[in-house]
Amino acid sequence: MHTPLPGLLLLATGGTIAGEAASPDRTQGYTPAAVPVERLLDAVPGIRQRAQVRAEQPYAIGSQHLASSHWLTLAARIRAAQSDPAIDGMVITHGTDTMEETAFFLDLVCARTKPLALTGAMRPSTALGADGPMNLYAAASVALDRRCAQAGPLVVMNDQIFTPDQACKAHTTRTDAFVAREGMPIGVMADGMPHWRQEPGGLARMRPTLAERFHDLPAHLPRVDILAQQVDVDVGIVDWMLSRGARGIVVAGTGHGSIADPLQGALQRAAAAGCIVVRASRVAAGAVHRGASVDDDAQGFVAAGFLPPHKARLLTTLALAAGLGRDAIQALFAQY
Ligand code: ASP
Repeated sequence: MHTPLPGLLLLATGGTIAGEAASPDRTQGYTPAAVPVERLLDAVPGIRQRAQVRAEQPYAIGSQHLASSHWLTLAARIRAAQSDPAIDGMVITHGTDTMEETAFFLDLVCARTKPLALTGAMRPSTALGADGPMNLYAAASVALDRRCAQAGPLVVMNDQIFTPDQACKAHTTRTDAFVAREGMPIGVMADGMPHWRQEPGGLARMRPTLAERFHDLPAHLPRVDILAQQVDVDVGIVDWMLSRGARGIVVAGTGHGSIADPLQGALQRAAAAGCIVVRASRVAAGAVHRGASVDDDAQGFVAAGFLPPHKARLLTTLALAAGLGRDAIQALFAQY
């Protein structure tokens, strides 16, 4: 009996994987987001043998140009695909600069019911040894693996598979740019198939989700800013952020989320006025534990736990959009 191929939705959004350069030796000077989705797919013929592919291009940009409206567009498409019986798995091709944020965003607002893999490339499509085609094939394999149905969005790069909270771009140019912030990838690729070190859905069950709080996605997201603790930091920036409508401020603190006294004072006043102040760290790994190095209870701060500043910002933004207050937001951070 003829078994129909599974349905795969491919959403191409731009980035280096769709980059085009003047010559094959060019790996840095290139035009990103220049190659349309059909050509990306043509470079990986094996995918069409394994799935009925529906290819779409919601936008084509370098991911440094993302606005939250792009995230909301993508989330709406993924949510629709989750309830489309013709789609069994989904792949998003994406610029690598903010891929981990997009994965993290989608993890918070989309149901975890079908496999979803994000991938990209560090070399443009025209380069010698372009990494895009193999990454795309690997991402399709993950998206076609039914064991990933409850795993949430997974980042697939350079034969490694990362959860959205752990995925971290840690090198500016190399093809092995992605690492797990704490520990190891959840799985690896071999001969085009994923091999799991952990049950893919298991870790997702421990992570919070806000999906059921967003029956409809919000049209806009509240403003949350990141502020870097630094020598001679101008504490007036806190008032400026508040005057611009910031409802949350995430501090990229030093060390264990430490903050200089004058800045702490300004942030304490912001927190007293109702702003959600989150302490994260600029350090590459490790957590900011509540009450360590700063008295969060006395200052009215939230501790970011294991999330880096840019993901702490996203969690705060979406939690505020869902109508949560400080204690509930702290409880979310504690789950990572
Ligand atoms: N600037 C590019 C982007 O994030 C880099 C890449 O895709 O690797 O879109």
